[in-house]
Amino acid sequence: MTRNHFLKLIALALGGALMPLNATDERRRAPAFFVGHGSPMIGIEENDFTHSLKALGKMIPEPKAILVVSAHWTPPFYGVSVHHSPALMYDFFGFPEPLYQVQYPAPNAEFLCPQMEELFPNLLVKERALDHGAWTVLKHLYPNANVPVMQLGINRDLSLREHYEVGKKLQSLRDYGIMIIGSGNITHNLSRVDPDPDAPVREWAAAFDTYVKEAIESRDIDALIGFREAAPYAEIAHPTLEHYIPLLYVAGCMGEEDKSTFPYEGFSHGTLSMRNWLLYQ
Ligand code: ZN
Repeated sequence: MTRNHFLKLIALALGGALMPLNATDERRRAPAFFVGHGSPMIGIEENDFTHSLKALGKMIPEPKAILVVSAHWTPPFYGVSVHHSPALMYDFFGFPEPLYQVQYPAPNAEFLCPQMEELFPNLLVKERALDHGAWTVLKHLYPNANVPVMQLGINRDLSLREHYEVGKKLQSLRDYGIMIIGSGNITHNLSRVDPDPDAPVREWAAAFDTYVKEAIESRDIDALIGFREAAPYAEIAHPTLEHYIPLLYVAGCMGEEDKSTFPYEGFSHGTLSMRNWLLYQ
C-alpha cells in the first residue's frame, strides 16, 4: 500500500466526524459503503487497509443484514443469492493455500427475499456461495460472521444509468437497518497491475481516482454515470465495467441527509485504487 490514509480514519473517529452514528439509535439509516477490494489477498492480509475495515466495523452500528453488490457476480437477470454456510466461493486461481482455507460462516439473509421481490418483480433467487468480492471484505468488517448476508447480482443487461436507478431502489432498505455494500474498485485494469504491492502510483490511476473523488464530493451523479465520456484515462481505468458499477449502486443509495466520507484512500500494485466511500447519518 502507498499513500495510506489510515490515520485519517482514526482522526475522523477521534474528531467526532463519525460519532453521530449511534449503535442504539434505530431511527438512523444503515450506512451504504463502497469498498475497493483489490486483490483477493486482502482476505488474509493484515495491513493498513484491512485494519481500516476492522476499525470501521467497530464504529458503525451493526446492521440487521448486509446486501452486497459484488463485481464478481454479473448474471443476465435480477438475482439475489441464498448461500448455505460455511460454503464460500474461492473464485480466483494461483494464490497461496491459506487463502483457500478461509472460512466465513455468516448466516444467509433469506428473510430479505420478500422485500427484494417487491423491489424487483422478476427477481430470481439463486443458491450461490458468497464470492470473494463479499467475503474478503466482510471478514474484516464483521469478523464474528454474525451479520446475515445476501448478494444482489449486477444485471449485465443494464446501462450505467439503470444500475444507478437500481441503487436508488435499494436506498429504502437502509431504513430497515440493511447495510448496502458495493464491492469493486475505482480503478481496475488487471493487465496493468504491478506485481509489487507497493509500486509507485501510476499517473492515470491517480487522475481517474481524483475525478471520481471530486464527483462524489460534489454529488455530481451525471459525472459518475458518464465517466466514460468525461473522466481522464477512463478506458485504461476500466477496460471492463464490472468493478466500477458497484460504485453506482452506492451512489444511488445516497440520500440528501447522508454524510459522505472516505475512510480509506490509497493504491495497491501501482494501479488499484483502494478508496473506500461511506454514506452515513
Ligand atoms: Zn475484484
